[in-house]
Amino acid sequence: MEHIVIIGNGIAGVTAARHIRKNSDKKITIVSAETDYFFSRTALMYVYMGHMKFEHTQPYENWFWKKNRIDLVKGFVNEVKHENKSLILSDGKTISYDKLIIATGSKPNKFGWPGQDLDGVQGLYSKQDLDKLEANAPNNKVCKHAVIVGGGLIGIELAEMLRSRKIPVTFLVRESSFWNGVLPKGESEMINEHILEHHIDLRLATNLVEIHSDENGKVKSITTDKGDTIACDVVGLTAGVAPNIDFLKSSGIELGRGVKVNRYLETNIKDIFAIGDCAEQHEAIGNRRPIEAVWYTGRMMGEALAQTICGAKREYNPGHWFNSAKFLDIEYQTYGWVFSERGLKDNEQHFHWRHPKEYISITISYDKITRKFLGINTFGIRMRHKIFDRWLTEERNVEHIIAYLKDANFDPEFYSQNESQIVSKFNAEMGTNIKSKKKSWKRIFVKA
Ligand SMILES: Cc1cc2nc3c(=O)[nH]c(=O)nc-3n(C[C@H](O)[C@H](O)[C@H](O)COP(=O)(O)OP(=O)(O)OC[C@H]3O[C@@H](n4cnc5c(N)ncnc54)[C@H](O)[C@@H]3O)c2cc1C
Repeated sequence: MEHIVIIGNGIAGVTAARHIRKNSDKKITIVSAETDYFFSRTALMYVYMGHMKFEHTQPYENWFWKKNRIDLVKGFVNEVKHENKSLILSDGKTISYDKLIIATGSKPNKFGWPGQDLDGVQGLYSKQDLDKLEANAPNNKVCKHAVIVGGGLIGIELAEMLRSRKIPVTFLVRESSFWNGVLPKGESEMINEHILEHHIDLRLATNLVEIHSDENGKVKSITTDKGDTIACDVVGLTAGVAPNIDFLKSSGIELGRGVKVNRYLETNIKDIFAIGDCAEQHEAIGNRRPIEAVWYTGRMMGEALAQTICGAKREYNPGHWFNSAKFLDIEYQTYGWVFSERGLKDNEQHFHWRHPKEYISITISYDKITRKFLGINTFGIRMRHKIFDRWLTEERNVEHIIAYLKDANFDPEFYSQNESQIVSKFNAEMGTNIKSKKKSWKRIFVKA
């Protein structure tokens, strides 16, 4: 019986395993070092914040794996020997495979800062990081002040976590405005305001220079490139992630920043594949990045590869880009492409509306010549994925999106509805006379 071995029990590896089992009788083994069972990494913050227990982040009961004949091995793979199709684990054991799937995810970036390995300095990625945070910052008596370095999605999650225990936080962000390499100016500035309102000491355009130690090798302060010294008990390093592939350096598998793969998720070596955060496309798909470190793309890669492994060769084809996240109390969704000023395409123009009092806004991106709708960002308004996916496929123009925006709104009826203000602003700016169409369930649920 063919033996499929998967390294990594995250969303990518586990999805591949589940779908291979659905479609075949192959022998499946998952080797992973972090935890015994798959858990939802995106829910780690809620464990620290007391909304759930760690066990609740595990989507499958512990009996699921045995019942589905998916063997789980807890261990760290030190080496892949493709010449004899085997893996060598750190405890010396070897495992043979017929086909190998590398799904080893990411690790937090460290940029060689002096003091980056001191006690009290940590990332937020793994279950071990969560345990460390619980030990380093159980409350504001033990952790009187924390510094977070790196203003992305994980940085702001860590800030929210620490604030939930009333720990004072200084947040160092290299950019001049929060996440402005991704978000357009109006949105990025709105998030700056929201962060400050949460009593987080946001320091924009500020870099970490050094982390200082006390006499016991524990962090006691940091200095910034503005010349400030900030006393702290914990430093969170959240300046992005990189593929977790160091163990493959001498494997003969082609590596770039990640494991290089083609559209079928095949590496340069026969019968070895890579999926999820650790995979790097030779050529990026459309406007996507060659490495996509997001949850749903890991799942999609796992599904696509399972088909290939079970004989129905399938390309990884993720469709229109979408994503969602949360900035403290503000929900964010994005569909299609809305670039920040830094990445703005030549043909791209934006229409932006922001609520006068609340943290609610939308930015619609469109082609300034053809007026084709390119994408939308929403903050504080929940939208229907299916509708935007359809409008992107149908290549609707921006005027259509404005007129039918109520169809896309997914907020409960009792939430404030903002479409009329949005349409008025659009008409005033563009000199149009668009009337907002009433929401139609018939249109919403029409079969494509
Ligand atoms: C705090 C946090 C919040 C996030 N929130 C979001 C979100 O809201 N939305 C979103 O889209 N994405 C989010 N992400 C990103 C998302 O979680 C990742 O994209 C996704 O988990 C990657 O899945 P994966 O299966 O590729 O790898 P991972 O989940 O990283 O799994 C890989 C596993 O392989 C193990 N491993 C690595 N090397 C070896 C080895 N040599 N031997 C054995 N085992 C090994 C690792 O220990 C790990 O357990 C978040 C990430 C973090 C850290």
